[in-house]
Amino acid sequence: MTEGTNTGYLGRFAPSPTGLLHQGSLLAAVGSFLDAAQAHGQWLLRIEDLDAARCRDEFTQNILTTLAAYGLASILPVQYQSARSALYERALETLAASGRTFHCGCTRRELSAVRLAEDDGEACCLNDCRTRRVDPANSALRVDLTGLSPVETQDRSLGSIRFEPHIHRDVVVRRRDGVIAYHLAVVVDDADAGITDVVRGADLWQATAWQLGLQQALGLATPRYLHLPVVTEPDGQKLAKARRSIAIETGDSELMSTLRNVLALLRQDAAPEAARTPKEILEFAAAKWNTGRFRGLHSVMAD
Ligand SMILES: [Zn+2]
Repeated sequence: MTEGTNTGYLGRFAPSPTGLLHQGSLLAAVGSFLDAAQAHGQWLLRIEDLDAARCRDEFTQNILTTLAAYGLASILPVQYQSARSALYERALETLAASGRTFHCGCTRRELSAVRLAEDDGEACCLNDCRTRRVDPANSALRVDLTGLSPVETQDRSLGSIRFEPHIHRDVVVRRRDGVIAYHLAVVVDDADAGITDVVRGADLWQATAWQLGLQQALGLATPRYLHLPVVTEPDGQKLAKARRSIAIETGDSELMSTLRNVLALLRQDAAPEAARTPKEILEFAAAKWNTGRFRGLHSVMAD
């Protein structure tokens, strides 16, 4: 995107090519696409491929082909995070210049114990590393958020999201393995593109607070948020990725039924039987798109 195109609605879908699309990620793609389409806005595809050890080109190609098969097309060029390192490095410099960055030597084991206990997807530094001598070569880089102001925003489905400096005290911006951390890349990319509306799965709902903090630390605007329900197994467990992978070598009728099923999970009106292509279903669904149907829902069960 270039300057001057961010006056209207600009949404995005930002998959990580660590596997094939599954029902949950297709739901996020459809939801963000329809929200943009109903607003007569634009829709950007961003491939979040910073973690070279986990991301594979064949998954990227498969995801793009799958989206196209479902009629989820964008006229905007696809963005690749792996090509945007300079932007993230500049953001790191900005944070460092503000005196807020510090090296954190807390171990993965220590941090994951906290994440499990609090179920909020993130863990702050546990050992007061900011005031300790930590080996920079073997540590994550964090930004201290405690000096910032509280921020509250209203998610269009789930309501209030609050960044509280005394709760969301710090966040990793560069991982121990040197990879730019997810939250920093997302915040920088969304602001750089002029994204007005972040529409994504509710699995990122809790972590949004840290993104509000990072936006403030970097002087970036906060977009509107709409968190869509995540798809769970019928027993309520996290969707098994392998089992739900969406193949594209299926025929048109399977594409259509998968798409109808995703719309049903989002509690949207069923497209008429007369709709003969994914594109026709999406056109109908965009005209009828109603976020009120799933408002407040954190998850929906696959059948
Ligand atoms: Zn630490």
